[in-house]
Amino acid sequence: MEIINNRYTIQGIDALDLAGEFGTPLYVYDAAKITGRIEELKSAFPDMNMKIKFACKALSNLSVLKLMRKQGAELDAVSIQEVLIGLKAGYKPSEILFTPNCVSFSEIKEAVNLGVVINIDNISILEHFGNEFRDSVPVCIRLNPHIMAGGNKKISTGHVDSKFGISILQMRHLLRVIHNYKVKVIGLHMHTGSDILDAEVFLRGADILFEAAYDFPDLQFLDFGSGFKVAYQEGDVTTDIHELGAKLGKAFKAFCKNYGRKLEVWFEPGKFLVSEAGVLLVRTNVIKTTPATVFAGVDSGMNHLIRPMMYEAYHEIVNISNPNGVKRIYTVVGYICETDTFGLDRRMSEIREGDILAIKNAGAYGFSMASNYNSRFRPAEVMLYEGKAFLIRKRETLEDILNNQVEIEF
Ligand SMILES: *Cc1c(COP(=O)(O)O)cnc(C)c1O
Repeated sequence: MEIINNRYTIQGIDALDLAGEFGTPLYVYDAAKITGRIEELKSAFPDMNMKIKFACKALSNLSVLKLMRKQGAELDAVSIQEVLIGLKAGYKPSEILFTPNCVSFSEIKEAVNLGVVINIDNISILEHFGNEFRDSVPVCIRLNPHIMAGGNKKISTGHVDSKFGISILQMRHLLRVIHNYKVKVIGLHMHTGSDILDAEVFLRGADILFEAAYDFPDLQFLDFGSGFKVAYQEGDVTTDIHELGAKLGKAFKAFCKNYGRKLEVWFEPGKFLVSEAGVLLVRTNVIKTTPATVFAGVDSGMNHLIRPMMYEAYHEIVNISNPNGVKRIYTVVGYICETDTFGLDRRMSEIREGDILAIKNAGAYGFSMASNYNSRFRPAEVMLYEGKAFLIRKRETLEDILNNQVEIEF
């Protein structure tokens, strides 16, 4: 969002008009931001065979997936449902990497039958796989290099207590199983979580992957997952993608030389591609003054954006109805019967009942983690593409909530 003539606008469209036209709560995605991010990532790895596998759990709307595909990104799916949605959005099976964790073997077989690339993150699954497919279906192996990415255990997946990946310490066991069943391994993967601060952490993980790679003669790609950090507030440290490109590119080229072949390098960004492209527009229902604070209560809550309550994530909030208002301190809360705070003690332009607030960085893990808690409808979604607003998901109705319920006639 940028302020033009005292109006918050996205792609030249007044955000208040969007709230008026489509109602609130409303997720708004700026397609130009998404495509910009894809281009930025591409430009950071100029002379490499790099593939972007968008982690669609971050935002799985069909129109977003189609936009990604149009821009040359491919897909990382973590459930068979995401695989099916990806296929529906037009991705070829070979463009989809299926990276499940703790799913049944039958779900993996289903994905094999659909023809997608399978990423295996458990030795017992690998044994099932070997029994069933031998060397007829090539796979990728998800390794856990035990790199602690950032400090937040909730979003870090590389630590020793993590349930993700096959521990690098199990290499001997892993290789035994692979040789016994003659499984063909075409890729190695790591994803150490969503809080990698700098290129160095990536490089440490990469080094471990490089070292492991020599035991796998059939590799076609190395997948470094994600963990690109984006700014949620001013002053946040973010991943310098160009520094990463330069450093990792150099290390990767040296590795390929030793390995004897040029491999592809894959990434699976979620947040990086969509977080900043999204805002959640909400309407202020009430201003409530208590002995302790002034609450602004809005027509949304943790049912629509759970990150603040689940991860203590900071999301900047601005009052787009009153850009030049005097600054006051508010605690912005939702309408859910639960403590659902969007922002604590925020200094923002004076909020009046009816004002529209924009919650920023809502593109990733916003709608995709939304629920119907309190029997509320999930928000509508709009995409701004080439200066026009497109409704890409209708607001729900009571029908949607009652849809699968079966009533007992007492
Ligand atoms: C969630 C996830 C990602 C994306 O993480 P971001 O922090 O959103 O970039 C990538 N790969 C895998 C396997 C994931 O589970």
